[in-house]
Amino acid sequence: MDRKRIKDALEKHLERSSPSTSRGVAAKERERLAAGKLPASLGKAGKVSDGEDFESDSEDSDVSGSEGEDTSWIAWFCSLRGNEFFCEIDDDYIQDDFNLCGLSNQVPYYDYALDLILDIESSNGDVFTEEQNELIESSAEMLYGLIHARYVLTSKGLAAMLEKFKNYDFGRCPRVYCCGQPCLPAGQSDIPRSSTVKIYCPKCEELHYPRSKYQGNIDGSYFGTTFPHLFLMTYPHLKPQKPTQQYTPRVFGFKLHKKS
Ligand SMILES: [Zn+2]
Repeated sequence: MDRKRIKDALEKHLERSSPSTSRGVAAKERERLAAGKLPASLGKAGKVSDGEDFESDSEDSDVSGSEGEDTSWIAWFCSLRGNEFFCEIDDDYIQDDFNLCGLSNQVPYYDYALDLILDIESSNGDVFTEEQNELIESSAEMLYGLIHARYVLTSKGLAAMLEKFKNYDFGRCPRVYCCGQPCLPAGQSDIPRSSTVKIYCPKCEELHYPRSKYQGNIDGSYFGTTFPHLFLMTYPHLKPQKPTQQYTPRVFGFKLHKKS
């Protein structure tokens, strides 16, 4: 499945439903969909094609074939190229309505997206158009991201992110004098679609772009502005000393005068 195309479709969809009309549009679409529930094949179609895409980059060959059968949507989603920053959210967390409060009017096809995330398949044979399938698929991504932003602030979420931090999943600081310091994902805004995710270096306390362009396309609000700092407050022993060395520009070995 072409993720870029899906993303574009969602963007277009969200643009069309401007804040004042979004409810009406969503309601109309729900009506249109009300005839049936999510077809059982929906999630799988995406899984298989994306699985292949992922496999071409991976040395692990047993991802193929039966992969779609026993991998949960969440595990599959987190294994996609570019999604390395996401931790796997506990099913229990997602199943608790309290944790999802306010998300249903932010995500189109909310109910279908939620079913997809939780691998709840309906046996109804109703068919969606390809465009609808893609919208539900991308809504599920957005919904997962928005839940993720909340989850990583809980003790379980922080612990899951700790494992990823220890594994250098968020990359290292590109600044030479930070000496390969592992970073944390950070959003510059908590409002969806305002900026892409950055990495925060706890050593130089700066934001940097992620190394991978796939990671660089992920929405920053799926991690939020609070996460890296709450993480370091929770695990203070991981906060490194400030860097002692600083780069000094020189010309023919001479330091530059401040005014030059
Ligand atoms: Zn740094």
